Amino acid sequence: MSDARATIGLTGLAVMGSNLARNIASRGTTIAVHNRSTEKMTRLLDEHGDEAREQGGELVGCESLEDLVAAIEKPRTVIVMVKAGEATDAVIEDLVPLLEPGDVVVDAGNAHVDDTLRRQSALEEHDLHFVGMGVSGGEEGALNGPSIMVGGSEHAYANLGPVVESIAAVVDGTPCAAHVGPDGAGHFVKMVHNGIEYADMQLIAESYDLLRGVARLEPAQIAEVFHGWNEGDLESFLIEMTADVLSHTDADTGQPFIDVVADAAEQKGTGRWTVQIALDLGVPVTGIAEATFARSLSGHTDQRKAVRETFGSDTHDVEVDVEAFVDDVASALYASKVVAYAQGFDQVMAGSREHDWDVDPGQLATIWRGGCIIRARFLDRIREAYAENGDLTSLLVAPFFADAVRDGLAAWRRVVVIAAQAGVPAPAFASSLAYFDALRRDRLPAALVQGLRDNFGAHTYQRIDKDGTFHTTWAGDR
Ligand code: NAP
Repeated sequence: MSDARATIGLTGLAVMGSNLARNIASRGTTIAVHNRSTEKMTRLLDEHGDEAREQGGELVGCESLEDLVAAIEKPRTVIVMVKAGEATDAVIEDLVPLLEPGDVVVDAGNAHVDDTLRRQSALEEHDLHFVGMGVSGGEEGALNGPSIMVGGSEHAYANLGPVVESIAAVVDGTPCAAHVGPDGAGHFVKMVHNGIEYADMQLIAESYDLLRGVARLEPAQIAEVFHGWNEGDLESFLIEMTADVLSHTDADTGQPFIDVVADAAEQKGTGRWTVQIALDLGVPVTGIAEATFARSLSGHTDQRKAVRETFGSDTHDVEVDVEAFVDDVASALYASKVVAYAQGFDQVMAGSREHDWDVDPGQLATIWRGGCIIRARFLDRIREAYAENGDLTSLLVAPFFADAVRDGLAAWRRVVVIAAQAGVPAPAFASSLAYFDALRRDRLPAALVQGLRDNFGAHTYQRIDKDGTFHTTWAGDR
């Protein structure tokens, strides 16, 4: 083993870890690297060791965790980038006896906030610092510039901060990496980021389905529509990727690629966590929930077959002016996106209040502008909205977004109506519109729900005309 003293160490050299290590070394940093099976480590050094040195950094190969720890300058910072869950716990358990008070363990995988809080408390008992670090951008981002959300102590960020800020994507001279708060804050905001990503992808998928199922456009034509959208306010990584996917032809069959892909969407769990935690926090993230359920529904092939066979799968022709309908779908997509992001930011702030994290939503929008999967022109608008008013009640009322929703509202309604008439499911569009309408309604039928609860369960209610808690003696009280 080399006797180089590394600024930082990393264990877990699968696709994410090795790309992150290469990115760190490319910024002139010496990084000690380790993997459970030594082969991945030696391959990384063989393939990229010279390149790292040419870039002014170094990859220091370590065959054991002991070697890894010995190679890092004190106080040590060790990034763990292994399979989420039990593997992460196992690696942390092996690392702890090798470390000294003041050292920092960074979990850079995706983790449920409860696991991060548990790990943080466990390490605190050994005077070690634990960081839950959200990394977005997939393998390409890890190599060339991800968005990085760090949760942990100031002490932990002192060494880690300069490294992550040096490797992150940069937008307008600002790195897309930040210390978002203590302990679980980084993993929490990364989780909500993924939840928003679910909603965004579902809205895009519904847009595609409507353009195909109602306007009868072919995938290549829809790709052109998305290309066009990517030149305007909807510009984003996901819109660009959609154009890419829809214009792709399957090499085996010559069919549009989209037509040979099985239509059952998978998930790794961050969307589900977002919705589960939102339920606990009482935050209505309806867009993220619809997106998560839409993925579940797509996988229920038996039920889909049974219902399809019972009712048929025909859609109904609805006559539309194609150009006008394309514009309407763009407006509906934009307005529904405002709802999805408004709900996501609401959840971030609810989590922040619950855990005393003091997350700055403007800072979050700033570091989501580049590197991550939801990067978009849109995020700049969110950053501006929070810069104008740090105490925004909802993104929906920020002047820019309020104008956009007002301008697109009629189109949004038309699209939801046409989707229902045609029999093309658009759950995220419909529920976003319902969320918006529910928020702006002067009287909600929640009053009736309260009446019912008092009637059958004596759950009591409050009145609009006097303070206090009331119960009515109902005829036939039960
Ligand atoms: P992965 O497939 O999730 O995990 C493979 C790595 O974990 C290998 O280095 C493997 O070592 C190691 N590992 C598994 N079990 C272990 C154990 N019990 N003890 C020690 N090491 C163990 O790798 P990945 O896709 O690069 O993802 C790494 C982390 O990043 C995950 O937490 C993931 O959630 C997160 N993440 C991934 C993406 C993505 O786009 N892939 C994006 C953001 C975040 P061996 O080589 O010895 O098997």
